[in-house]
Amino acid sequence: MSTETPYPLVFEPLDLGFTTLKNRILMGSMHTGLEEDSTEGFDRLAKYYAERASGGVGMIMTGGFAPNLEGGSGKVGGDSLTNAEGVERHRQITTAVKEADPDCKMCFQILHTGSIAGHENLVAPSPVRSRINRFTPRALTGEEIEQTIEDFARCAGLAREAGYDGVEVIGSAGYLISAFLLTKTNKRSDEWGGSYENRMRLPVEIIRRIRQRIGDDCILIYRIAAMEMLEEGSSWEEVVQLAQAIEQAGATIISTHFTWHEARVPTIATRVPRAAFTRVTGRLRKELSIPVITSNRINMPEVAEKVLADGHADIVSMGRPMLADPDLANKAREGRTDEINTCIACNQACLDQLFQGRQISCLVNPRAGYETRLNYLPTDAPKKVAVVGAGPAGLAFTCVAAQRGHQVTLFEADAEIGGHFNLAKRIPGKEEFNETLRYYTRQIELLGVDLKLNHRVSSEELKGGDWDEVVIASGIVPRKPPIAGIDHPKVINYREAILGTKPVGKRVAIIGAGGIGYDVAELITHNGTSASLDVDVFAREWGLDFENHPRGGVAGVVPKVEKSDREVFLLQRKSSRFGSTLGLTTGWAHTISLMHKEVHMLAGVTYEKIDDEGLHITVDGKPRLLEVDTIIICAGQESLSDVYEDLKSADEAAQGTANLHLIGGAELAAEIDAKRAIAQGCRLAAEI
Ligand code: FAD
Ligand code: NAP
Ligand code: SF4
Repeated sequence: MSTETPYPLVFEPLDLGFTTLKNRILMGSMHTGLEEDSTEGFDRLAKYYAERASGGVGMIMTGGFAPNLEGGSGKVGGDSLTNAEGVERHRQITTAVKEADPDCKMCFQILHTGSIAGHENLVAPSPVRSRINRFTPRALTGEEIEQTIEDFARCAGLAREAGYDGVEVIGSAGYLISAFLLTKTNKRSDEWGGSYENRMRLPVEIIRRIRQRIGDDCILIYRIAAMEMLEEGSSWEEVVQLAQAIEQAGATIISTHFTWHEARVPTIATRVPRAAFTRVTGRLRKELSIPVITSNRINMPEVAEKVLADGHADIVSMGRPMLADPDLANKAREGRTDEINTCIACNQACLDQLFQGRQISCLVNPRAGYETRLNYLPTDAPKKVAVVGAGPAGLAFTCVAAQRGHQVTLFEADAEIGGHFNLAKRIPGKEEFNETLRYYTRQIELLGVDLKLNHRVSSEELKGGDWDEVVIASGIVPRKPPIAGIDHPKVINYREAILGTKPVGKRVAIIGAGGIGYDVAELITHNGTSASLDVDVFAREWGLDFENHPRGGVAGVVPKVEKSDREVFLLQRKSSRFGSTLGLTTGWAHTISLMHKEVHMLAGVTYEKIDDEGLHITVDGKPRLLEVDTIIICAGQESLSDVYEDLKSADEAAQGTANLHLIGGAELAAEIDAKRAIAQGCRLAAEI
């Protein structure tokens, strides 16, 4: 056991018999969107993975690649591995990773999407359409099932040839293999359907055949659906039976996966407690003699250490945390935990972008996926830079510029850094946002930034300074919509509501159902412990039973939410679906959460006036009075750019604006979020 690190269990090597993992951290599988790019996708993937290998991780898993055309995008290309040409492409990845760190194990995931495939030629055990797909699959014939097993084995063999140290077969989430396991999706009456033994034959055969193909000295991981979070999911006895059969068939490691994509329980969003599901892995671990991997919301080394100490797993998978900080493992090993740029589980730049058909990146680290394009190189001409505003845009700019060698002074009007993030971090379920502010606080110290808090800088003061560059990141202020009676004492804005500087009554109307309107509704209806901080509260709110493990972990369990004694109306002018402007992969959980709390959601609203009686609105042409005692305005923001405007006009008078920059919400308030603010700050700092 290593003694030099604060995380001895994380950094204890794991002997697999024929090879050894140098530590217990796996960078879990994530599709990046570069896989399909036939021009430079693999060059970029090679650099992306190599940086993570240099960052000290023990094992890396690629995103999923299909073993045949039906299992992937349906097109010949990078997202499947079926031939020698593919082997050459993949050799770029394995070579780059081995050059970066010969001890890092680079593994390849085989993913057959089955009935979730995004093309029309999709296959499944039976013609049952997935709730999240518009296409209905065709049932595989017995002969085609045999061919599919052969395709998996061929794919694994090719991965080995390409230099991978191991392969993982994904048997969960609603993809092909997992669809064979459940009676809901497997209606067959041949030897692949009916009894559980028949339904689990496919994964067991695939593992057996792959092991024969790749030999005994190659890592073989099976990703099992440990809890589908569907009423018709597997019983616990079935999960154990399958895991033991997979072990017998030749797997080196079993990795647990939670949920099917079509389930309606959040499993990776920021509202999910850290390490929420590892106890399920721990229970399965007791039934097996091979190592197990656990995952989901393990974002910091102390969380990983505790999971290992609790005996819940032998290896922890950290996927998104490696997007946020490729050097996480090295920093952890060296005890530099406070320097880790933590994944806040927002999904905004990773999964949300992927589901929009875009390449992934990371909100807190816009270099993720852009390692060949966005680099923060040391400057050979250090400049004296003034930054106005320590919100996400100003902080991101400051730290990258200082890291490059520029001399930065950061002015912030408030007593603390963070800007609007200081409001976000107060929302139950958004506690992780504190980590981003901790990261920036530490970077400011380490990089010697001259931080001036409680200092509202004026254009006059800046004009008197001897600055080479001036960056205005003064952000946004809440919009005050022109509604009759808007100055009535019962009207407050989101800032006042969140900070508690003005009281919020028992009957409340929220004007605006964007991200902030939702967050304010969550805050003011909240009772007791935040579900994101307590696994048991979370399990109760989402109807999970970790003790008795009913089918899928949820069958027959009724969600129980602590109700608020406030009556809240959340209003929007649009007649569209509530939550449609929120994150693709998280918005639905926000909406369900507010529905559990009985928040009234009214769409298609016209605001008429506010008076002593309350808020007068029209809905569907009918007048209505909401007799509320507080009205909270969450109607977007406007840019705060007065300092910039003054400097610009003074500069223009002096005929020079080249060194004056405007970024973040101060530049454009519409749809400003931290993703854009941070990316803009980093990109500008890389250029000056
Ligand atoms: P700001 O955050 O407004 O920062 C500007 C800073 O400049 C402030 O600190 C201000 O005090 C300072 N300043 C202004 N003028 C001066 C001056 N003259 N001198 C010195 N200092 C000055 N975004 C997401 O991406 N995801 C989320 O989940 C999310 N959740 C949110 C939840 C809530 C409740 C709120 C309120 C916001 C949320 N946001 C979220 C939005 C995000 O916080 C903002 O988009 C982001 O903070 C904008 O960054 P910015 O740096 O441009 O501006
Ligand atoms: P927003 O998402 O633009 O929502 C503001 C809402 O107010 C709009 O949906 C709009 O809905 C309403 N509105 C706008 N102008 C109005 C007016 N004049 N009168 C009455 N209503 C008006 O902005 P936000 O909620 O302030 O959030 C700001 C940014 O932070 C957004 O970009 C958001 O993405 C980000 N954020 C993200 C999250 C997240 O979880 N990812 C959470 C919080 C914030 P109608 O026009 O339909 O009424
Ligand atoms: Fe984590 Fe958000 Fe970055 Fe995705 S975008 S890796 S969830 S911080």
